[in-house]
Amino acid sequence: MTDSTRKQYEEWKITSKYQTPINIENHDTIGMLALDENGDIAGACTTSGMAYKMAGRVGDSPIIGAGLFVDNEVGGATATGVGEEVIRTVGSFLIVELMRQGKSPQEACEEGVARIMKKNKGRKDFQIGFLAINKQGETGSYCVHPGFTYRKYDIEGHENVPSKSFY
Ligand code: ASP
Repeated sequence: MTDSTRKQYEEWKITSKYQTPINIENHDTIGMLALDENGDIAGACTTSGMAYKMAGRVGDSPIIGAGLFVDNEVGGATATGVGEEVIRTVGSFLIVELMRQGKSPQEACEEGVARIMKKNKGRKDFQIGFLAINKQGETGSYCVHPGFTYRKYDIEGHENVPSKSFY
């Protein structure tokens, strides 16, 4: 910790209120999905989790199926945001299963967020972003609130792709 983050942490400990503000930099998951020239899919994610988390908390990123899932027969998915909500729906696994059933990566990401929102009716105080790729190299993404983007690379170059959102 730097001196200033240590000070913020000491202040936070007075109330120890566990909350997950939207689109401020209190979390930092990086999720990556790749399709190589042989058509093989790989994925990875890394996170330091939420700032000021409760003691012993495990987020979604280290749980295969929650923060990341790849099935080389179908596609891959990865998540960022409030891990508790991703774990409750085993979100990345769900998205790959939806693609297996015929949904596009975009449709599958939208359904993944819809499942989470169904369990959180009317709740607006958290962000989730999903990213997916299928065996054909089609990609999709979707999030709860605007602000989630991903960088898409192919042989022609790369571009920033803003996600559509539930709200
Ligand atoms: N998904 C991570 C977690 O819940 C947070 C993040 O997006 O970095 O731990």
